[in-house]
Amino acid sequence: IVREEKASSKEKLPRWTVKLTHPDRIYWKDAGVTKEGLAEYYSQAWRFMAPLVVNRPLALLRCPNGYDGQSFFQKHAWKGMSSNILTVHDPKDKSGQPIVAIDGFDGLIGLVQGGVLEIHPWQASLHDLERPDQIVMDLDPGDGVEWQAVIEAANEVRERMEVEGFACFLKTSGGKGLHVVSPVKPSAGWDELKSFAKGIADAMAGDSPDRFVATVTKSKRRGKILIDYLRNGRGATAVAPYSTRARAGAPVSMPLAWEELSGEIGPAYFTVPNAPARLANLGTDPWEDFRKAEVPLGKSPPKRKRKK
Ligand code: ATP
Ligand code: MN
Ligand code: MN
Repeated sequence: IVREEKASSKEKLPRWTVKLTHPDRIYWKDAGVTKEGLAEYYSQAWRFMAPLVVNRPLALLRCPNGYDGQSFFQKHAWKGMSSNILTVHDPKDKSGQPIVAIDGFDGLIGLVQGGVLEIHPWQASLHDLERPDQIVMDLDPGDGVEWQAVIEAANEVRERMEVEGFACFLKTSGGKGLHVVSPVKPSAGWDELKSFAKGIADAMAGDSPDRFVATVTKSKRRGKILIDYLRNGRGATAVAPYSTRARAGAPVSMPLAWEELSGEIGPAYFTVPNAPARLANLGTDPWEDFRKAEVPLGKSPPKRKRKK
């Protein structure tokens, strides 16, 4: 995947037309990342990120004073929001306020201007809010779980999803875990998507109760990995590929090829400071075929593999 070539020339990177006020404002002081530095990072990431984030409802973590300042988890448009951010009416949203999306690079930089440090899309596009187009399995290690066990969990999710006919794409969360994402041809609704994802999680927890749990109860999680399927409901979100995280060191959620999964690359290994070198030298985008690989959700729920 990594080529010997040097970084591709800067001219090819998109430039923004959005006005960045206070470009030197510090967003991650520990990593030395400013508002303008964040925009530069997204300029590098955009060609990989764009197909995965445009035209989907977004929830946003806004931290106008940096990652360790006051934050707002926001699902709707806000006062003073950049005009490059789209507002969309969700007929099922009882608040009556518009939800938000972006359709281009200036939209993304509009988010940067608004102090957005995390971008969390729905598992559906604006094209059809009732027919999701991806499944995300979020692997959340409890205290005391070794990284190798999280890697094994991701591989097991992959095996089980592949048995059901889905292609699986991997990324670090930028936090503590991994996300396994499968493209779905939109046809089934939210209830079917969530019960399918629950079926995978329940099967894993049922077959290996010492390793996995499928319910969120904190007290039951020590030493186990939560297979968090709840990212798959209507209005639920998971962090976008290439999105930064509002955590120490400016980590990003980085798409990986399955062969890259190893002890060396931990969940927050890739950061705003080190991601550009990876992206500039990436021969093949590990998620290049993401949309092409979509298949519809089948009719039958996933089965348990082993009887205990
Ligand atoms: P980790 O690897 O640490 O689990 P993660 O991205 O999988 O990282 P969270 O940061 O806990 O996990 O986010 C999980 C989901 O919870 C997000 O996609 C989002 O939908 C929701 N979420 C995140 N932050 C907030 C918040 N401040 N308020 C409400 N919901 C949030
Ligand atoms: Mn998680
Ligand atoms: Mn989770």
